Amino acid sequence: MSKRISLALVGIGKIARDQHIPSIAGGEDFELAAAVSRHGKIDGVENFEDFDAFLKARPDVQAVSLCTPPEVRFDMARKVIEAGRDVLLEKPPATTLGEAEALAAMASAAGVTLFATWHSRFALGVEPARQWLSGKTIRSISIVWKEDVRRWHPGQAWIWEAGGFGVFDPGINALSILTAIVPGAIVVNQAALSFPANRQQPIAASLSMASAAGAPISAEFDWRQEGPQTWDITVETDGGEVRLSKGGAELYIDGALASSGPDREYPGIYDRFAALVRARQSDADFQPLRLVADAFLRGSRQDVDAFHD
Ligand code: NAP
Repeated sequence: MSKRISLALVGIGKIARDQHIPSIAGGEDFELAAAVSRHGKIDGVENFEDFDAFLKARPDVQAVSLCTPPEVRFDMARKVIEAGRDVLLEKPPATTLGEAEALAAMASAAGVTLFATWHSRFALGVEPARQWLSGKTIRSISIVWKEDVRRWHPGQAWIWEAGGFGVFDPGINALSILTAIVPGAIVVNQAALSFPANRQQPIAASLSMASAAGAPISAEFDWRQEGPQTWDITVETDGGEVRLSKGGAELYIDGALASSGPDREYPGIYDRFAALVRARQSDADFQPLRLVADAFLRGSRQDVDAFHD
């Protein structure tokens, strides 16, 4: 049994509490040694309000998981790398591709691990879907990702501000699955982005994309869906249809359930992070972020009704 890796969690909000803390506690690779957050605290570990003070006071902490909103992640990640520690980035890895690529270059030069996580890629159906698609000809892909922002992001003002991603905060999860299961580069041909009159980021987006082999890919992202929530990706091929449902948790082949099981996305993330740290390697794939950036560059703007929490 290898020695546990000493780790700090930064940004103690919804995802840190819902997923990171239980996944770290449930695994055997990491020891939670510190928390850094202006308001959030974790019982039983040393808590810091100031990030620089944490880095100075705890040189023993080897790895840092950044669970803050993306807008503030770059400066923190840069400091972690400069301090010679390993770093895990929540998704999206940064606000811009330039920041993300700069972090990858810095981590490589410093010889530390950078793990840009995409939790949806660890959903149970994703790897079997990738394998099933291998060798088949894809004819078309349809993504429908519709959820209720009031239910999933209550009171999160940052998500509507510049750098907050709006509906692409969940939409990028679909794009992370898409880029994991479809070979080759994907391009954005058209995008229609719907902005509430009182918000800086879109509440809905319609994308037309194409695979490297020319298959059409449509994506509908919407944050106004009440009632049942939809996180589906359907791929039509020359050998039948594969559908990932519930964000990748369920896999259907030609309409029949082929795989499902308990959620292990975040335990999977920490298993991978430990393997990367021990092997002194990085995993930083920015394709999903590139598609979001391209959607903004190609996007036409539509004004829609003001949104109120
Ligand atoms: P959150 O509930 O708002 O928590 C983020 C925490 O970061 C805040 O509680 C805040 O803690 C800290 N923070 C530091 N600088 C901040 C700033 N300028 N503005 C706002 N908060 C700041 O957000 P979250 O839902 O956990 O999401 C964090 C990241 O995880 C996002 O990138 C998101 O895409 C990703 N994620 C979220 C979910 C989900 O279900 N919510 C799922 C998967 C991934 P202090 O005030 O104590 O500093």
